[in-house]
Amino acid sequence: MEIDRILRVDMSTNTITEERAPKRHALLGGRALTATMLLEETDARIHPLSPEAKLFIAPGLLGGTAITTSGRTSFGFKSPLTGGTKEANVGGQLGHRLARLGIKAIVISGTSANGWQRLDIDAEGARLSSAASLAGRSNYDLHRELVGEALMSRAAATIGPAGEHRMASASIAVTDPEGRPTRHAARGGPGAVMGAKGLKAIVVDDTGAPRVIAGDRKDELRQEVVKFSKVVLEDPRTHNLNRYGTAGVIKFVNRENVQSMPTRNHRLGTWAGADGISGQQIEALGKERGGKMLPCMAGCIIKCAILFNDEHGQHVTSALEFESIALLGSNCEIGPADAVAELDRLCDDIGLDTIEVGNAVGVAMEAGVIPWGDFEGAKRLLEEVRAATPLGRIVGGGTAHVARTFGIDRVPVVKGQGLPAWEPRTLKGMGITYSTSPQGADHTAGMVTARGATADTLVKQSRHAQLVMMAIDSVGVCQFSNALPADMAVFVRNRFDNDWDDQAVLAMARAGIDAEREFNRRAGFDREDDRLPRWLLDEALPLPDGPQAFDVSDDLLDAVWS
Ligand code: SF4
Repeated sequence: MEIDRILRVDMSTNTITEERAPKRHALLGGRALTATMLLEETDARIHPLSPEAKLFIAPGLLGGTAITTSGRTSFGFKSPLTGGTKEANVGGQLGHRLARLGIKAIVISGTSANGWQRLDIDAEGARLSSAASLAGRSNYDLHRELVGEALMSRAAATIGPAGEHRMASASIAVTDPEGRPTRHAARGGPGAVMGAKGLKAIVVDDTGAPRVIAGDRKDELRQEVVKFSKVVLEDPRTHNLNRYGTAGVIKFVNRENVQSMPTRNHRLGTWAGADGISGQQIEALGKERGGKMLPCMAGCIIKCAILFNDEHGQHVTSALEFESIALLGSNCEIGPADAVAELDRLCDDIGLDTIEVGNAVGVAMEAGVIPWGDFEGAKRLLEEVRAATPLGRIVGGGTAHVARTFGIDRVPVVKGQGLPAWEPRTLKGMGITYSTSPQGADHTAGMVTARGATADTLVKQSRHAQLVMMAIDSVGVCQFSNALPADMAVFVRNRFDNDWDDQAVLAMARAGIDAEREFNRRAGFDREDDRLPRWLLDEALPLPDGPQAFDVSDDLLDAVWS
């Protein structure tokens, strides 16, 4: 089956047109496709919330197949947070459904002149209609209404109040397999862009569409799917993720010789309360309370998403991730796990990036808006975001916005985007990725956690990791499948009946990164934007074998892509 439908939704004229994807895009999907289309179709100097801005939505190249974790969806846009190119991809049930309907991309442009709209897509076609009854509502309520019991055929992508108010840390919530809005395309403010279009919800129903997509070599593809699944299931990393989720790293990163547990607005790298928010503690609570590990999309055999219940066995949140726990938890000195889970749920409901908001609240604490460790105060701030009060708009505007408002000079951002949990002073490869990724501070842009390697080696590792992640985000599989370029090449070969090898995969990835960098160049970025904030070079963390600050030279940072 061909996946080549491009749906163009013009919110200004209330019209939807359809075209076939051009041949040059045939082997692009996910992030590489949205980055390329963004570059080709958008003037990089526009305001990201203007009618001229576009939101690109694309399943991965391998979307709809039986390859485990292959149902991710990319959202590409000019970011209101960074002012540059952005792609946020997400699990959940949307990607496979789009692919099964033959949709390669949806392009949302313009701004609604008729109030809030919803977009429904199914085998009959695509339609815009009034979403007046959905306006002002939060994500849990929305997904209950829009998806309801139709778990096997429907998925929604919605914005909560933060997106409606066009806040730069607003996310887009995608339905998980239990019908909840717990998977978020979060980084860079895609919810604000969708809000600026006047689009409250997209609902996709794939009833009547083929269940599994394959090409002419479907028997070979099936064999490769089985082989790869076996490798994934036997990988010790899978066992760990399936037991503790990504929270399983907390005990490790909180060690004195790692110091990658952001604490007090990244002032420290360890936190005394870390055991209370660790994967092990969450697992123990889960055994008492009926918690479990879930797949975030149908077909994932890893199942790393933590479902967290309260002491009465009632659902609080799902997909409680390390990054969310670290930024909302230790970075604000908030614990234990119950408190962090509640904040995570609030972010999901209001439609917020937990990393950006955890950083923003940390800066607000540094400014004395609320004290360190003030869980109730943090909840109040999030409710202010929901209500779009002036203080709520400041917090929802992101980390740098809070710092500017309150006159804070220790600002944990790169290219305007809040730092993830992985500490760039002790894990310098992460600092190289944060500096040089066109995406800004983004741990998913290229994980390099090696310690003790030379800066030259780390530069090479970061470049390779960034290329592999571009490939992973473009074929649309999850990074936790640990798919290598050679694995992706085998799948693309058998899905599309071509002769791709690992070098073809990496070449596609390099072209994607080049498209992102070119967009940023046209938007006004230069080499000085590929830098960490100065305080990460000046403030060392006290490791047992000596203090460590970020000390990779500017020349080496410039060498990553030159
Ligand atoms: S491994 Fe985790 S994040 Fe990845 S697809 Fe599965 S549940 Fe989702």
